[in-house]
Amino acid sequence: MISRIDLRNSFPGTGPATGTIDRDLLPRAELDVEAALHKVRPICDDVRHRGSAAVIEYTEKFDGVRLERLRVPAEALAEALEGLDPAVRAALEESVRRARIVHRDQRRTDSTVQVVPGGTVTERWVPVERVGLYVPGGRAVYPSSVVMNVVPAQEAGVGSLAVASPAQAEFGGLPHPTILAACALLGVDEVYAVGGAQAVAMFAYGTDECAPVQLVTGPGNIYVAAAKRLLKGVIGIDSEAGPTEIAILADDTAEAAHVAADLISQAEHDVVAAAVLVTPSEALAGAVEAELGKQVPATKHSERIAEALAGRQSGIVLVDSLDHGLAVVNAYAAEHLEIQTADAAGWAARVVNAGAVFVGPYAPVSLGDYAAGSNHVLPTGGCACHSSGLSVQSFLRGIHVVDYTKDALAEVTHHVVALAEAEDLPAHGAALKARFDWKVPENS
Ligand code: NAD
Repeated sequence: MISRIDLRNSFPGTGPATGTIDRDLLPRAELDVEAALHKVRPICDDVRHRGSAAVIEYTEKFDGVRLERLRVPAEALAEALEGLDPAVRAALEESVRRARIVHRDQRRTDSTVQVVPGGTVTERWVPVERVGLYVPGGRAVYPSSVVMNVVPAQEAGVGSLAVASPAQAEFGGLPHPTILAACALLGVDEVYAVGGAQAVAMFAYGTDECAPVQLVTGPGNIYVAAAKRLLKGVIGIDSEAGPTEIAILADDTAEAAHVAADLISQAEHDVVAAAVLVTPSEALAGAVEAELGKQVPATKHSERIAEALAGRQSGIVLVDSLDHGLAVVNAYAAEHLEIQTADAAGWAARVVNAGAVFVGPYAPVSLGDYAAGSNHVLPTGGCACHSSGLSVQSFLRGIHVVDYTKDALAEVTHHVVALAEAEDLPAHGAALKARFDWKVPENS
């Protein structure tokens, strides 16, 4: 079911971390973002012009629910928390506790640098005022994504935050009760039963029910990712956290049953989820194939998993050596990268492109999905080579505060004037000269 890609005898063994690998040879989803952009553009335009009425229509079309109102009533949030299974509540509380430990530590303090006597630049970190947090809910429900969005936003000090998650016909048009319970547990009272591109557009443009936000974060399917890409600029976004990916770099020391279980765990998300094993060991490749054959039929979502594993985005990549494998996983820039090798920490330290790295046999991706303390909203589709996962920093802006005395300004004026004239922007220089009885200093 999962295909093999044989890259052996193709690694020169030298060169930059990723530069020798042809990325086109690597398995990756043929996600047609252009087609999705084409599809979501009219949805976003419509929501911009017709507001809630358009959101209601698209929710009926895509989620099969005719909403009376977009916002989830407060009583529904309270009821969901009351009805939450105690074991799930305890697990969510532990997930929140661990996430807070990690995210609280990410908060940067303001810093002031004296550039010259009398001249300082302070970097102030200021939270975004109002944010929209997307929690997916199409194929699977993700109360864990409530935790992963809300905790860093709260730790950053965001004043106003709203959550959107698709309306579910089987729950009377509300988002899944566990999502509502997770919101209530975290003290979030502004929740909308809206999903997909229409949710991102609702956040970006605002409607009569939902005030516009400045930043939208959170994972989602290709329509959510496309809407975030389209509306970037109107709103800030985190990364494009689309269909999930796992890559595993493994050698003969890895346990085939665990490698297979981890590949399956991420394939479970979506038929377009990617599961990639990179190994120099033909024996491990064979053993993992055999394990997949055994384990997949026994899982609840076996059809979805089988489709994801058989897709061109998934595969077992055979490489010459772990060095070759490292170059491959760096070129692939996976959302999640597991290292299951001897000296896993040593190999992990050489990874330069990944959303998150999971080191050794006891740090599977599922741990990070729920309860490692790390964030699970991570860049996909190769975006990990330029973007980071969601963090407290995602919700902060650094503002430079420039404070110069008259003497400090006088000292640098001739340099500013010289650069302004070089750029043919003499009024820039004049703005400084106006403050002084100014002439070009000697020896400048
Ligand atoms: P979702 O909430 O992202 O998408 C559901 C919405 O998609 C629906 O409400 C609907 O409005 C819209 N939609 C469905 N079909 C459409 C169509 N044909 N045209 C326009 N809009 C349409 O939920 P999902 O579909 O289950 O996807 C969740 C995704 O999130 C999965 O791919 C999963 O892998 C991913 N995920 C990623 C991360 C990450 O950090 N990268 C984390 C968790 C989940």
